[in-house]
Amino acid sequence: MTETNGIYFSPDQLQEFMAKAMAAAVAEARKMTPMEERKYNEEVQREKRRDRMAIELAKAEEQIQRNKRLGCSHKCDPRTGLAVGRDRQDGDWTTGGQLHGNDMATLVCIRCAWTWRWITSPAERDYINNAGMLHMSPPDQGRVDELSNIESERDRLTMMKDDEPVVV
Ligand SMILES: [Zn+2]
Repeated sequence: MTETNGIYFSPDQLQEFMAKAMAAAVAEARKMTPMEERKYNEEVQREKRRDRMAIELAKAEEQIQRNKRLGCSHKCDPRTGLAVGRDRQDGDWTTGGQLHGNDMATLVCIRCAWTWRWITSPAERDYINNAGMLHMSPPDQGRVDELSNIESERDRLTMMKDDEPVVV
């Protein structure tokens, strides 16, 4: 190798040097100006606010649904279809449902989606097979599977997610 005043790079060293120089140049080029940085930060803040708002809206919607369900009598006037109190003997239950193969039945309030799941008696199965479950009266609360409304709550949340993506 001839002695010169220059710097000698082996091909590998040269490649390494070039790669580092390129990376440094790219990093420098990507650096945001103070103005760009401010805009970027503002955008991040805006997104955070939007996410928080979506969560607040989802919570409010959930509260409305919960109130609606707690306030629902699951009964209506058979002539007008308007909601009536649960103690109205001539009121129609606003229910519909399905009997499953394992003698479990699911009855749902069509108005508020309140759900009753329970193991039917032979008499109830006879009734369902003859008359169906439309307007069927719900079972005593003690017979209801306690998962009933957790499940329907989950279904409802899933439905809500399909409509509008919610970041949580
Ligand atoms: Zn209801």
